[in-house]
Amino acid sequence: MVEHIWDQFLIIIKEEVGSRVVDTWFKAVSLDHWDPLKKIVSLRAPNTFVCNWIRSNYTKLIQEHLSRLLNVDEVLIVFVGPDDQSDTDPVISEVQQVPTMHTVSSVPSTFVKNRASMNKNYLFETFVVGPSNSLAFAAAQAVTEKPGKLYNPLFVYGGSGLGKTHLMHAIGNAIRKQYHRASVLYQPADRFVTEFISAIRFDKVHAFKAKYQTIDVLLIDDVHCISNKEQTQEAFFHIFNALYESHKQIIFSSDTFPQNIHGLAERLQSRLGCGLVVDIQIPSLETKIAILKKKAQIHDGQLPDDVTHFIASLEFSNIRELEGALIRVLAFASLTKQPLSMALAQKVLDRVCEKKPVAVDFSRIIKSVLKQYSFSFDQLRSKNRSKKIAEARHIAIYLMKKMTNRSFRDIGHYLGGRDHSTVLYAYNKMKRSVGDDTLLSNQIQRMKREILR
Ligand code: ADP
Ligand code: MG
Repeated sequence: MVEHIWDQFLIIIKEEVGSRVVDTWFKAVSLDHWDPLKKIVSLRAPNTFVCNWIRSNYTKLIQEHLSRLLNVDEVLIVFVGPDDQSDTDPVISEVQQVPTMHTVSSVPSTFVKNRASMNKNYLFETFVVGPSNSLAFAAAQAVTEKPGKLYNPLFVYGGSGLGKTHLMHAIGNAIRKQYHRASVLYQPADRFVTEFISAIRFDKVHAFKAKYQTIDVLLIDDVHCISNKEQTQEAFFHIFNALYESHKQIIFSSDTFPQNIHGLAERLQSRLGCGLVVDIQIPSLETKIAILKKKAQIHDGQLPDDVTHFIASLEFSNIRELEGALIRVLAFASLTKQPLSMALAQKVLDRVCEKKPVAVDFSRIIKSVLKQYSFSFDQLRSKNRSKKIAEARHIAIYLMKKMTNRSFRDIGHYLGGRDHSTVLYAYNKMKRSVGDDTLLSNQIQRMKREILR
């Protein structure tokens, strides 16, 4: 019966976390014991590494699903080690408890007092600073020292997996530590939307707004998720104004800068960008190495220099992927009880190396454009608007946006300090032309192939 429950759980979470995570982590674990009286589930992990990883990343998920599958309100999870036959001596004695799906879905979340939403592992101390993120880091620390006074709102933007959420939690954790009584709320924007919809359903919009207005520090992650949600934006606008006028600190993260978030009301765009706007870029090789070392330390792994360098130089476009690769190597070494070596890392990441497409950066694209048009980079960056140069510039802009997904601001900056609206205009014009003109479209395809070669 109990094994059956665990099998069902594996099927369900495969949908949520993907088969790789299930194969790497969950299949190594078994459901050892279920105590229906105390409502305790004991999970058996093969070693401390797997146990720690699952505990810190998936406890809530396990609790939610097992509560449902076992048909109880709340289930407590304990982990027991490989050789431990006694449930009374768990590897991890800390028992965590969260509201179950039942509680959360039947009560509007406006009334769930959930202010302890910070991830305790995301701290300033565990954030590696390099040229790609130093400004964002410094701003985050400044905000922590004087919440509501210096940079308000603080707006951090950058590509996925580059550390925005980590930094948001670090701010929240640090403020909590410093000002014990401050009411700090970290809220991903999509959860804000869900909460608002639920407030509408239960006719509690007033209470919803009131709740937000009592907060001292509000951290809204991935704020671009409220684009095209007009009613939510409206509510958010009022909450923002109330907090801002009372000098409460507001921090946003997004995948792009405020003016570039499509489907966002103009007045909200200007509010979001009215404080300090900072970006996080893709890290350099040195920063990636430092991050890998820090992460290995956190996971109790000793990473030899050659292995660190090898993983850092793989073409991962963000730190989340980089960390994923590290974890796979550490887990493999731990599960198979082999030393961490280059051979092992190469074997584990073999498929990643093969499948990973060529990393496309601005310089690669510009090289191809200059080759095609026989101009110099200075000419491309210049103010010269002669037809041929403008054409080459527009193609460069189009390819830079399509192939790197970097912001219009970054592209403009790279191309001689052009402002983002000029770049956006050129991009849209090119997009239309590529749609209409087969010759141009073929030329673009050829150039793309060459850049990727
Ligand atoms: P984002 O929110 O930008 O998509 P996250 O903050 O979720 O990215 O970061 C993805 C992972 O990368 C997290 O595990 C985070 O701890 C790690 N990470 C990102 N930047 C850094 C950094 N500078 N130092 C240490 N870890 C980092
Ligand atoms: Mg994030």
